[in-house]
Amino acid sequence: MLALRSSPPSFGAAEGERIARDLYGLAPDVRRLPGERDCNFHLRTADAREFVLKISSLSDVEGTDCLVAALDHLAEQGADLPVPRLFPTLTGTATGRVSRDDIDCAACLVSYLPGRVLADAYADTPGTARARLLQGAGEMLARLDHALQGFFHPALNRRLAWDVRRLPELAVHLDLVENPRIRSVIEAVAIEFHEALPRIRGLRSQAIHGDGHAANLLVDGAGAVSGILDFGDMIHAPAVLEPAIAMSELLTNGVAPVEAVSAVLAGYARRQRLTERDLSTVYDLVCARHASALLVHAWRRRHDPQGARALETTGEYGADSLLRLTGIGRQQLTQEWREAARMGAREAAGPGNHGEAASSSAAAAKTASSVDLARRQRLMGRGAELFYERPLHLVRGSGVWLYDPEGRAYLDVYNNVSHVGHAHPHVVEAIQRQVAMLATHSRYLHAGILDYAERLTARLPKRLDTCIFVNSGSEANDVAWRIAQLATGRSGALVMENAYHGITDAVAALTPSTGVPRDARVLTIPPPPPNLDYRDGVLGRSAAGPRAGGDDGARAGGDDGAQAQEGDALAAAAAAAEADVAIARLRERGFEPAAFYLDTAITSSGVFDPRPAWGRALTGRLREAGAIIVADEVQYGLGRPGSHFWGFERRGIDPDIVTLGKPVANGFPMGVVAANRSLIEALQAKFGFFSTFGGNAVAAAAGTAVLEVLDRERLMANAAATGDYARGRLEAIASRHPAVLGQVRGAGLLLGLEVRGADIAGSKRRTKRIINFLAAEKRILIGYEGPHATLLKLRPPMPFQREHVDMLANAIDEAAGWVMAGSAS
Ligand code: PMP
Repeated sequence: MLALRSSPPSFGAAEGERIARDLYGLAPDVRRLPGERDCNFHLRTADAREFVLKISSLSDVEGTDCLVAALDHLAEQGADLPVPRLFPTLTGTATGRVSRDDIDCAACLVSYLPGRVLADAYADTPGTARARLLQGAGEMLARLDHALQGFFHPALNRRLAWDVRRLPELAVHLDLVENPRIRSVIEAVAIEFHEALPRIRGLRSQAIHGDGHAANLLVDGAGAVSGILDFGDMIHAPAVLEPAIAMSELLTNGVAPVEAVSAVLAGYARRQRLTERDLSTVYDLVCARHASALLVHAWRRRHDPQGARALETTGEYGADSLLRLTGIGRQQLTQEWREAARMGAREAAGPGNHGEAASSSAAAAKTASSVDLARRQRLMGRGAELFYERPLHLVRGSGVWLYDPEGRAYLDVYNNVSHVGHAHPHVVEAIQRQVAMLATHSRYLHAGILDYAERLTARLPKRLDTCIFVNSGSEANDVAWRIAQLATGRSGALVMENAYHGITDAVAALTPSTGVPRDARVLTIPPPPPNLDYRDGVLGRSAAGPRAGGDDGARAGGDDGAQAQEGDALAAAAAAAEADVAIARLRERGFEPAAFYLDTAITSSGVFDPRPAWGRALTGRLREAGAIIVADEVQYGLGRPGSHFWGFERRGIDPDIVTLGKPVANGFPMGVVAANRSLIEALQAKFGFFSTFGGNAVAAAAGTAVLEVLDRERLMANAAATGDYARGRLEAIASRHPAVLGQVRGAGLLLGLEVRGADIAGSKRRTKRIINFLAAEKRILIGYEGPHATLLKLRPPMPFQREHVDMLANAIDEAAGWVMAGSAS
C-alpha cells in the first residue's frame, strides 16, 4: 500500500525549543511551520539568525538519510545554489535522535532561506513580468537538477504516492472521487498514462527535487526566483518530470493558468537539454500529476481530514484544471510546450548552457577508468573480460539507460538480464521488502518460492510441473545434464554448432563456442539453413535481403499455402537428415544420446530463426533416438521472441526440460530447471539435491515481481511490435549499405545484423569497429555474436521502444557510412 496519510510527528513549540537547545545549543524563538511528512519549526535566535528545525519519523530513516546526503552533495556540487544548508549537532552528527510518545524521530537543522513564496509573489507581479518569473522558476529547477546529476541514494527509488509513476496503483481509489465526470476523466488519464509508462521509463533519469510547487520556490525583493525548499520528495525519475511537476502544481493550486505555465518549461530548457522524446511526454506527466493529486485529496477527504486540509487548494482548482487540460488536448498542448522549450533552448544556446556534460568531465572519466583498469587487472586477473576499446565505467541504470559517473546516459541495447528494465522499481521494491524481512534458503517452509513455482509452471506445458532452483544458467544446464544422464542411463549429448550453455565442467563440455577441448561424448548439429527462416515460405528469399517483417510464419508477404508447405517440408527434411547423421556419428563413437540441448534463440550459432517445422522434425528424431530434449531459455525465455512467451514455442518444440537463467530475476542471481516431477524426483531420490542460495526467499520475490511487470506492462507485445519495427528499419538501412551490412536475423528483441567485409577477418574487424564507434561516439551499447563474431548483437531490455530503435538505427546507418568512408575492409 502507498502511504497516503499526512502524518508529521506532533511535537509542540516547547519541545522544539528544548531540542534546539539540547542538540544545537541554541535558545531561539520557535514557531511551527506546515509540513506534510515532517514536523517543522522556524527558529530565530536573539542575534537574528534563522533556521528551520525538521523532525521526521524514523520510520522513514532512509528518506532522512537521503535528504542529508542530498544536501551534502549540493553543498559541494551546487555551492552557488540557494538551497538550505545543513548544520551539524553539537556532537558533530548530521542528525540527532529525539522521541515523543515512544516514537523515535530524527531532527536536523537547516538554514532558513529568506524570500516570499512564489505563489504570493506571482499574484503581486504585473502581468507583463509574470512569464519571466515562471521562466526563472524553470531555470532554478534546471540548475538544481544539473547539480544533482551525479547524486544517487537508494531511497530515491522508494514508493511515494506523489511519484506520478504510482498513478496506476493510486487509481484503485478512483471510487472515492465523487464527481462522476471528474472520475471518468481521471480514469482515462490513468489508462493513457499506464500505456505511456514504458516510454516514460525509457527517458533519461536522474535525482530530481520532485516537488517544485509554488510554496517551495522563493522570490526575492527584486522579483527574481531566489531559493528552493523542501527536499523531502526527491526521487530518481526522468528529468523532464521536474518542470512537469512544477507546471502541474501551478495549475492545481490555482496560481497560474494553462496559458502561462509553458514559461516554466522554457526556463528549464534554457539550462537543461530536453529531447523531443522528453517533450512528447510532458502532457502525460502534467495530467498524471493532476490525477495523482486529486486521488490523494479524495482519499484524504475520506480517511485523513486533517491531511486533506493541506490539499484544500488542489480540491478547489485541480478538477477544473484537469478538465481544461484534457479539453485543450494532447496535440495542441504538446505542440505549444514543445515550441516553448525549443525557444528557451535557442535563446540560451551559447556558453551559458549547461545541458551537455562539460568537456572537462571526459578527461576526468578517462583518468578514473585507467585507474580502475590497473586495479582491476591486479585484483581480477588480466583475462577478466571487458567490453569496448575504451572500457565503460557505469554507476547506475534505469529502464533502457545506463549512466556513467558524469551522469552521461548510454542506450542499452545489450543487457537481457535487466529484462524488465534496469532498476525497475517494482522489482527493486520486492527485493528490498523481502531482504528486510527474511533471507533464508529453501530448507524451511516459505510461501514465496511456492507462489513463484506455481506462477512459472502455469506458463509452461502441463508436463513441466516441477522446479529445481539454482543460481545461474550454467547451474541449471548442469542439473539438466545430471537429470538426463540419470533418466536415460546414457552419456552422449548433442548440441548446436558453436552453442553456449555455460561454465561448469560438465556444461563446458556441452559448449563448443569456448575453447574447452572437445569431449568424445558430445557432437554438434549445424544451424538451420538460413533460407528456411520462420517468415519465409519461398526458398532463397531471405538470402536475397530485405523482406516484409512483422508477419507470422507461413503467412509472410505473398507466401501462399503451397510454398509454405514446401518450405516446411524442406526444413523438416534438412533437420531430420542432420539429426540422423549426428546420432549415427555418436553411435560410431560408442555413445547413445542422453540429451539434446538447444539455446532456443540459437544465439551464438549465428542468431537463426528457423520455421517451427525445423525444430519439430529435429527434436522428433532425437526423441525417437531416446534423447531428453532440453530447451535452454536463458537467452530467449520470458517473452523476448514477442510472438511467444517461450523460445521453444516459436521453434515448434515440446521440451522435456526447460532451463532458465539471466532474465528471471532482473539481475538478482537465479536459475531454474523445470521438468516433469518424475524426472526431478528421480534425481532427488538418487543423489539428493539442495542449493544454498537456489530458491531463496529474495530470489523468489524478485522472480515473482518480474512476471508481474511482464504482464502489467505487456512487455511481450512490446517485444513483438518493437522487434518488428527494428527489423524493418535495420533491413532498410542494410539495403542502403550492401557492402557493409547484410541479413537481419532473429525475431522479437533478439536480433543479429550481419556485417560484411572482404573476408571473415575483414567482417570481424568491421563488426568491432562499428560496436566501438557506437559506444564511444553515440553512447549506444551493443555486442557481437556468431561463430566468427561478425554479427551485431541487439538484445535490449524489454521496455525498448520505437524511439530507441530510431536512435539505434540512425546510429548504425551513420556507422556503416563511416566504415565505408574510412576503410577498404
Ligand atoms: N545458456 C545460454 C544460452 C547462455 O547464453 C548462457 C549465458 N550467456 C548460459 C546458458 C549460462 O548462464 P550463466 O552465465 O548464468 O551461467
